[in-house]
Amino acid sequence: MSAATTPATTTPAAHPAKPPRLLALSLGGTITMTATAGGGIAPTLGAADLVAAVPGLGEVADIEARSPFRLGSSSLTLANIAAVAAEIRAAFAEGFDAALVIQGTDTIEETAFALDLLVGDERPVVVIGAMRGPQQPGADGPANLLAGALVAVSAEARGMGTLVVLNDEIHAARYVRKAHTALTSAFVSANGGPLGLVAEGRARFFSRVAPPAVPVLLPGAGELPPVALVKIGMGDDGRLLPALAGLGYAGAVIEGAGAGHVPGVMAEAVGELAAQMPVVLASRTLGGPVFERSYGYPGSEIDLIARGAIPAGLLPALKARLLLVLALKAGFSRERIAAALAAFG
Ligand code: ASP
Repeated sequence: MSAATTPATTTPAAHPAKPPRLLALSLGGTITMTATAGGGIAPTLGAADLVAAVPGLGEVADIEARSPFRLGSSSLTLANIAAVAAEIRAAFAEGFDAALVIQGTDTIEETAFALDLLVGDERPVVVIGAMRGPQQPGADGPANLLAGALVAVSAEARGMGTLVVLNDEIHAARYVRKAHTALTSAFVSANGGPLGLVAEGRARFFSRVAPPAVPVLLPGAGELPPVALVKIGMGDDGRLLPALAGLGYAGAVIEGAGAGHVPGVMAEAVGELAAQMPVVLASRTLGGPVFERSYGYPGSEIDLIARGAIPAGLLPALKARLLLVLALKAGFSRERIAAALAAFG
């Protein structure tokens, strides 16, 4: 029917759209921390307290607040995050539109990437935290909570896996790094920079990432295989490496210098370790891929890969380590581990 023939009186009343359902899960962190009698701040607040303290948040979404953990984020484990992922998956199955994870900033770059590997849904999972506690002047928690919720409910955020929002910037889980101990601008995205920002109450994206091209790596029951992380320093002789198998490690990530290099005297130990367990080669630099075919001296990436090391691609050591834990738990072969790492570029 054309507009000209539609009597104004019969136009259906516009029904207000149902607000999106957002699950907010708090795990602890500075954003939840208040002063303790013993000195310093510690996690005391839960998700409901945080949500109630942000004016305007109730208009963004219909929020259900839960508080599964109250921890400093350096005490969170991959098993904790697998439980959080299971709760998010159950909430999505029940009809929630997005999830907001509230936690400490110290390990956000790890937990966000773990959630990326463990949730596997096109609905957004957004992780936020705060650099200043709620009792500090200029506390950034409320602004980060509001910005995170705005991103979580935005249509453009769908299909990009897990995102991290702090300081009004939107980061992809695979690229985000904590680069400062104190500033509210502590988070950076290696390689491509942030995906977007929040301004005037709206999420705006400049670029997108594809969701992780690896199967969802649900760990199931039982212990997670321990994976060692060894960072190389100048003059290191690698004497730690032969001890790893005896300590019960099932895999190792070596965070080499530059494009993935270790001192020449260590190369043999890397090869011996790679004969015992999967060894992933990452870089201690902030960005760029581990090389595969450029340098040919002892301890170079060509040498280490020939000795059995698996290049981490664009994934930094912390994220490659989580992928290796979950891949080992899933029983991946060396080839499938290499392919899963390569899927991130
Ligand atoms: N400094 C941390 C934070 O920003 C403490 C933690 O990660 O739990 O939340």
